[in-house]
Amino acid sequence: MKFDLSGEDRKRMDEHLEKIMERTYHMIGYPLSRDFDYSEMNPVMRYALNNIGDPRIESTSVLSTKQEENEVVDFFARLFRAPENNYWGYVTNGGTEGNLYALYLARELYPEAMVYYSEATHYSVQKNLHLLRMDSIVIRTQPNGEMDYDDLREVLSQQRHRPAVVFSNIGTTMTEAKDNVATIKQVLKEQAIRQHYIHSDAALAGIYTALLEPHHPFDFADGADSIAISGHKFIGSPIPCGLVVVKKNYKDRIGQLVPYIGTLDTTITGSRNGHTPWFMWYAIKKWGIEGFKYRAEQSLELAKYTKEKLVEMGWKAWANPNAITVVIAKPHESLIAKWQLATEGDIAHIICMPGVTKDQIDAFLKDMKQHYGNRVSAISMS
Ligand SMILES: *Cc1c(COP(=O)(O)O)cnc(C)c1O
Repeated sequence: MKFDLSGEDRKRMDEHLEKIMERTYHMIGYPLSRDFDYSEMNPVMRYALNNIGDPRIESTSVLSTKQEENEVVDFFARLFRAPENNYWGYVTNGGTEGNLYALYLARELYPEAMVYYSEATHYSVQKNLHLLRMDSIVIRTQPNGEMDYDDLREVLSQQRHRPAVVFSNIGTTMTEAKDNVATIKQVLKEQAIRQHYIHSDAALAGIYTALLEPHHPFDFADGADSIAISGHKFIGSPIPCGLVVVKKNYKDRIGQLVPYIGTLDTTITGSRNGHTPWFMWYAIKKWGIEGFKYRAEQSLELAKYTKEKLVEMGWKAWANPNAITVVIAKPHESLIAKWQLATEGDIAHIICMPGVTKDQIDAFLKDMKQHYGNRVSAISMS
């Protein structure tokens, strides 16, 4: 017997692929890098890999890429200035899992804690808190999307009897605003809340925020207890992935030895992807610090260009400092659909991810002009 796809099924695959290529060209609203190429790793796709359990402990009989995974963790721990002999981390399925793990850790440390997060926080965080049954209070944001520290101060002053877990955003989903971890730490100190935990959700912006000047306070040396990033966003990957780094002495409190797999069950899921750590390893070996920095600078330049061109044509557009996200007044539905712009209320955004080209931005600008003609100023100012 020979089993294979029918001609019809092949055709469907080809058609779908073609559509993906077209949609990828027109995607400037979501934070996925497009400039990755892992084709050198194609042979690896023939093998079943599984990093089940703790990355620092090989399991009994599983083909894994834990060595590469640990090198990835080491690389980012150093970049995020984690305490040299006191960090631990693993490659996750994405930013959400990293955030969930960090909150889980915080809850194990402080079961009575109150969690504080700003209005601009990613939608997945509420679900995480619900899963963990943690109490939380939403903090107001400033107009740029950054946490309102006065509101944090006031709310904290009424909860001084409870340990505090502050969930900070290093690049909010809509405006790429960055909360200031040093300021948060200062506010906690003012309120004399000694039992506290600060997590940095740096899904999109963590890597380049660590590389750009002036330094934005968000890492371990600035006061964070854990940091999570996404791997399929700035680094770029065909399969969603991410990374979480925490302080090791906190992590040592959770995880139990499972004889069946011969390793510590310290992560959220059981079986873990063995391919994505290898992709991330490949990316850090290929780009390195210099490559990541170069890509970030290219993105910033394109964001500046995009913003300036829009403002020139009378369209409302702005960006936070060192952000590759350009926030714009929401354009017509047809433009949002074609260019897959994310929207919220009366704003939308364009994210100049690595791999987005000036040609794409110019094509978008041309569509804008075609749609609005001379009416641009009148519409975006109203
Ligand atoms: C994308 C994003 C997440 C979720 O990350 P996933 O990798 O999609 O799970 C969480 N927080 C922020 C700020 C994000 O931008």
